[in-house]
Amino acid sequence: MYCKRCGAQIDNGSAFCPNCGAPQGDGQGYYQQSRPSNYDSGSIGWGILGFFFPMVGFILWLVWMNDRPLSAKMAGLGALVSVIFSEIRFIAIFAFAFSVGTATSMI
Ligand SMILES: [Zn+2]
Repeated sequence: MYCKRCGAQIDNGSAFCPNCGAPQGDGQGYYQQSRPSNYDSGSIGWGILGFFFPMVGFILWLVWMNDRPLSAKMAGLGALVSVIFSEIRFIAIFAFAFSVGTATSMI
């Protein structure tokens, strides 16, 4: 976009012209830039939530995928890690049971 006062080319969403300092638009660009960072924090808390409640994590991931990509990613990642952990635990128990079974059959 271009400055309304001096016509210099400036970044889309810039609140002020870097050339002459004139405020641009009605502050829409400022809100578009600042709001998602506050709203979509991508906090590790969502990952922890997803880890302890994988179903909630997956639902949040699906719901937020478009609106809050960072938070959705964290929630989905937490859920994924949780699922992988439970898989590993299941495989470990299975492997242990199998090895015990093999050991007893050898006696
Ligand atoms: Zn300007």
